[in-house]
Amino acid sequence: MTFKAEYIWIDGTEPTAKLRSKTRVLADGAELPIWGFDGSSTNQADGHSSDRVLKPVFTCPDPIRGGDNVLVLCEVLDIDMTPHASNTRALLTEVAEKYADQESWFGIEQEYTFFKEGRPLGFPIGGFPAPQGGYYCGVGADEVFGRDVVEKHLDLCLEAGLKISGINAEVMPGQWEFQVGPAGPVEVSDHMWVARWLLYRVAEDFGIAATLDPKPAKGDWNGAGAHTNFSTKAMREGYDAIITACEALGEGDKPFEHVKQYGHGIEDRLTGHHETAPWNKYSYGVSDRGASVRIPWQVEVEKKGYIEDRRPNANVDPYVVTRLLVDTCCSALEKAGQV
Ligand code: ADP
Ligand code: MN
Ligand code: MN
Ligand code: MN
Repeated sequence: MTFKAEYIWIDGTEPTAKLRSKTRVLADGAELPIWGFDGSSTNQADGHSSDRVLKPVFTCPDPIRGGDNVLVLCEVLDIDMTPHASNTRALLTEVAEKYADQESWFGIEQEYTFFKEGRPLGFPIGGFPAPQGGYYCGVGADEVFGRDVVEKHLDLCLEAGLKISGINAEVMPGQWEFQVGPAGPVEVSDHMWVARWLLYRVAEDFGIAATLDPKPAKGDWNGAGAHTNFSTKAMREGYDAIITACEALGEGDKPFEHVKQYGHGIEDRLTGHHETAPWNKYSYGVSDRGASVRIPWQVEVEKKGYIEDRRPNANVDPYVVTRLLVDTCCSALEKAGQV
């Protein structure tokens, strides 16, 4: 007998990478082999030497096909078995390893928007729905669009064993959020990429497209972000470490270095309106949804916990945002002797 392995990888499309996948039929009990693909069709090679390598790095049950079938997230390698230029996971694993003893945790809030027939789900033909105000965490057919897809996606993520921790309707019709975490940097990112793949895949069955476009509707509508909640062991134990992390993110060129890698089109989303801070002005504050980085109110009360980096776009690469946060904050905590 056989089982099906869906090999999933992240391509080289600029400015925002896309997910790709293909199926391998394997004999029962077979190990997941290294596989290959045509990199010239995924912006990962030119036509002359286009073979690229898929190396399985994370496997989970395939909740779409069920049975013994599996989803297989892969890293992309060149044929000399070194990481391909588009392989941001390889960069993350190095940094994660370096600061492993600080025990970083992440919870990423993935906002996204459903589209059908060229407009956000719930938008009337040639016009706009009632202004935002009632949609966030709403209920009822006049406010909520696509809940059947969202519920199905949550169930699929749970069946796959992903660390999904919640869902909510967002401020624009057809806009939703799910959260993954808390988990370490590599795990949260692997789970996020597979959860994204499952989102596109299940929405496909409903004739709906899901997009991570950070500004899916022009005008007075919130953008779509990927707030990234972050803590280290020291931050979960004391407030000095919380402040050190917030300060480190504001030092020198750090705000710019982070923001320019937090997803394409970030200037259009971080305008200073719609619960954002301007992209070019770093700030942090308690309970402040108009700051770049928010310290949740209960963290200030308890004097320990985590911080929320509100800047990442919905289309951010989780391997990149977690690497930058670990690198910037853990090195500062180490320097301050607060580990
Ligand atoms: P918001 O109030 O900003 O909408 P959410 O509830 O959507 O926040 O998401 C918060 C995320 O933070 C969740 O994924 C949660 O698991 C995660 N989280 C909670 N505690 C920590 C922590 N100590 N370190 C990192 N992430 C955490
Ligand atoms: Mn949230
Ligand atoms: Mn949200
Ligand atoms: Mn948030």
